[in-house]
Amino acid sequence: MRRDDLAKDDQSSYWKSMPQPKAVTLSQDPKGIVIEWEDGHKGTYPFPYLRKACPCALCKGERTPFDQVGGIGGRVVSPADSSEPSGLASGERNTAKDMFKVGRYALGFKWGDGHDAGIFTWDYLRQMCPCAECAS
Ligand SMILES: [Zn+2]
Ligand SMILES: [Zn+2]
Repeated sequence: MRRDDLAKDDQSSYWKSMPQPKAVTLSQDPKGIVIEWEDGHKGTYPFPYLRKACPCALCKGERTPFDQVGGIGGRVVSPADSSEPSGLASGERNTAKDMFKVGRYALGFKWGDGHDAGIFTWDYLRQMCPCAECAS
């Protein structure tokens, strides 16, 4: 192997400071997503866990009445729904109906109640990896 080839292999070094996923797939049990990282690490993220960790201003600032924010993403969610923190009984709202990429640095979800304001950067997702290895 020539030196040139080695250099080519290394062209992704720009992104090395930030974790990048190799594949994102859906998981059925538990319902959620599985992220396989470029370094071979794999983590399963149940939807309720992701919803709870939603980094958007609305979810972070629990005391903000929803009507002050004015329907993020054009969706109107009843205040009763959005003010219930645990929501374990109503599993639907904590289940992602849709998943979308945000640029090349983040992932977004559309939840059962229409909420879709949270942007999960790869960095954030990697940090919150719930697997036993990362939790220890
Ligand atoms: Zn949110
Ligand atoms: Zn992990």
